[in-house]
Amino acid sequence: MADLRSDTVTRPTPAMREAMASAPVGDDVFGDDPTVNDLEAHVARMFGHEAALFAPSGTMANQIAMQLVVPAGEELLAGADAHVVTYELGAAAALGGISTRTWPSRGAALDVDEIAGMIRPAGYPSVPTRAIAVEQTHNLGGGGIVPLATLHRLHDVAKSAGVALHCDGARIWHAHVAEGVPLFTYGQLFDTLSVCLSKGLGAPVGSLIVGSAERIARARQIRKRMGGGMRQVGILAAAGRYALDHHVDRLAQDHARARRLAEALEPFGVVDAAAVRTNLVPLDLTKASMDAPTLVARAAERDVRITVMLPRLARAVTHLDVDDDDVDRTIVVLSDLLRAA
Ligand SMILES: *Cc1c(COP(=O)(O)O)cnc(C)c1O
Repeated sequence: MADLRSDTVTRPTPAMREAMASAPVGDDVFGDDPTVNDLEAHVARMFGHEAALFAPSGTMANQIAMQLVVPAGEELLAGADAHVVTYELGAAAALGGISTRTWPSRGAALDVDEIAGMIRPAGYPSVPTRAIAVEQTHNLGGGGIVPLATLHRLHDVAKSAGVALHCDGARIWHAHVAEGVPLFTYGQLFDTLSVCLSKGLGAPVGSLIVGSAERIARARQIRKRMGGGMRQVGILAAAGRYALDHHVDRLAQDHARARRLAEALEPFGVVDAAAVRTNLVPLDLTKASMDAPTLVARAAERDVRITVMLPRLARAVTHLDVDDDDVDRTIVVLSDLLRAA
């Protein structure tokens, strides 16, 4: 079975399990878990921030970060295709009381002037804008990378407006590897970041919120309120630390495999291979005679698993547990199905 549904399907490697088994632990709600404390300090340093906080999921990390920078009843700006808007089940509104206004879906191709024009200052009868959230890499944007120059311009816009900038960096590692931009450089551009250990990095669980010491102290309270205070969680932090030490540079292999898959499928008119920069391969079926659920079901019958994103959008993802043979098999099966379609 070639499982290209998501980079969340990876299982911990034997070496990662060993690191988990031997991790010193304590009650992290008391701040007593040395492995968690070490991971938090390490990740804060990587991004050049004062502090970081371990959280059970990327969704919780994003939601905690947004509650840090947007008071209830005030406003967040994000793309209509952002994970925080599309896939977090209304959490910003339901849990944070946050009002969200969106710019049109542009994936990673942000229009900084458009975003700047949307900011509404405090002191007027309108809802004040408090934060802007961007995604790196962009999930629904097919793993696209927001260029560093764009982020610098957005940073300047946010700073001069007194608005916070949050990065949903679930796959920021992929942007770092694909572009050669240091994580530290990305870190300096944002007030808060969320980063995920359980996607391409291959840890079973875990994300972190990164920010100032003051914000992370508040984040700890919000995490507790949301039910995310965990106890001897060093066994999971150890998996995350192992992933950071051993699974970042190898993402280049995932990117190369994704590109190879995209190039093989490009002749069927379903993907622009040059746009595949990281590990996500979106398959646009608007011109194919088969919709996404049909393609996904037929591929599964032949032991190739991909996912349905939208009625006419499917997606294949390369990751730690996908090798060259899996990619070969995926190319053969999807080519057969798309040729017939
Ligand atoms: C996966 C993902 C998250 C977090 O998802 P969880 O499943 O809650 O860990 C956040 N943002 C983006 C862009 C993602 O792809």
